[in-house]
Amino acid sequence: MKKHIQHPIFNLIAKAAQSLNIKTYVIGGFVRDIILERPCKDIDIVAIGSGIELAKEVAKNFGKNTKVTVFKNFGTAMLNYEDYQIEFVGARKESYDRGSRKPIVEDGTLEDDQNRRDFTINALAISLNKNHVGELLDPFNGLNDIENKVLRTPLNPNITYSDDPLRMMRAIRFATQLNFTIDPASLEAITKNKQRIEIVSKERIIDELNKIILSPTPSVGFKLLFDTGLLAIIFPELDNLKGVEIINGKGHKDNFYHTIEVLDNIAKNTDNLWLRWAAIMHDIAKPATKRFEDGHGWTFHGHEDKGARMVPQIFKSLKLPLDHKMKYVQKLVRLHLRPIALVKEIVSDSAVRRLLYEAGEDIDDLMILCNADITSKNPIKVQRYIANFELVNNKLKEVEEKDQLRNWQPPISGELIMETFNLNPCREVGTIKDAIREAILDGHLENNYDAAYEFMLQKGKELELKVKS
Ligand code: ATP
Repeated sequence: MKKHIQHPIFNLIAKAAQSLNIKTYVIGGFVRDIILERPCKDIDIVAIGSGIELAKEVAKNFGKNTKVTVFKNFGTAMLNYEDYQIEFVGARKESYDRGSRKPIVEDGTLEDDQNRRDFTINALAISLNKNHVGELLDPFNGLNDIENKVLRTPLNPNITYSDDPLRMMRAIRFATQLNFTIDPASLEAITKNKQRIEIVSKERIIDELNKIILSPTPSVGFKLLFDTGLLAIIFPELDNLKGVEIINGKGHKDNFYHTIEVLDNIAKNTDNLWLRWAAIMHDIAKPATKRFEDGHGWTFHGHEDKGARMVPQIFKSLKLPLDHKMKYVQKLVRLHLRPIALVKEIVSDSAVRRLLYEAGEDIDDLMILCNADITSKNPIKVQRYIANFELVNNKLKEVEEKDQLRNWQPPISGELIMETFNLNPCREVGTIKDAIREAILDGHLENNYDAAYEFMLQKGKELELKVKS
């Protein structure tokens, strides 16, 4: 392991530890990641003694301006060196109370500290002690598990997950990020302890869920969440998409599997977390709008509007942000059928203009979502969809170049309407403003100030308004 700790940081830490006569190890995610050859800038150092004292001594070796941040309550200290963040902690032994995932902590040995780790691959330690520098301490065969790509707990999985149920989310997150499998005993223990997730804060859960969503193939994690029963507890609306109903021999597609396939598709084209969230939410209202209509089969009329209306409530309950990011997801859900609908009618410029206006600067993201939504297994259908999609794309470009509707604002403002007719804010102002916008989008009115001004005067007359003299 020596070759992995060649960076001068480790030598400086080893020296400081020797001068204090404290045994010291690099531990956890950093060791795992160097073996996996994944970039990692967070280094965890465990000291058999005071981590805070060690950090202060290391800071002296790093140079005068090195600042140590001490978290007295946690017994940890942190410092930055180049772009590394190094955290120091004393080795601990932990015991848990059933009502909380916060353990009672006491000083311990390296072995105690490795026992409290979540997975064997996260329990590896590298010695920084004199005559042993670079030695790997791997009591649970973590190296083997890395080779076999398996997630296993160091101790009894039932106890490990019940003690701190966040580890269930971490197991699924690591399986998704690293493309590892979860050991069968662990999987069984997660299923058995799923209800314990309720003692974990929603902020912690969403943190892990977002890491799953940002993985290269997020469906791996969502399948595991579904199979273990965790999804039904943490995100019931998505769980509810699962299943196929059959009436008169006619079934509809399983909307859960469709949704996670769309998510995998979109993951190939964007790292934007919120666009990935739009993929997760795009069909969320299908169960609520599902009908079987004689002669038609299954329909989901209005699922895009209903879905958009469901977004704020779901974001709130998952503790996702309720700001412009939520509005963005909501907009994409509401518009996700529109580009394809444009193909079905003979595309009129006005329909395209309307979509450009409504989607605004998010039109490209909407098209990425629509493209990802093509999951048919029938190659002829897929080909037809892709061709249609190209058609819409070209039409959008054409109209966009002509009319430049992205971020467009109608040429007449509410203020000008009030000023012209000597009005205070009132319904008539909105009526005239809307009429101008609609006429331009429909192509009945030229998109310029003079034409719009004339149109305003005419509308005012219809509403029996007097022009200010
Ligand atoms: P990432 O940086 O991708 O989140 P990581 O494994 O480095 O992965 P951290 O949360 O920084 O994750 O944790 C550092 C180490 O602390 C882990 O490798 C693991 O040994 C230990 N650890 C973290 N959370 C837990 C937990 N809930 N239970 C047990 N050990 C944990």
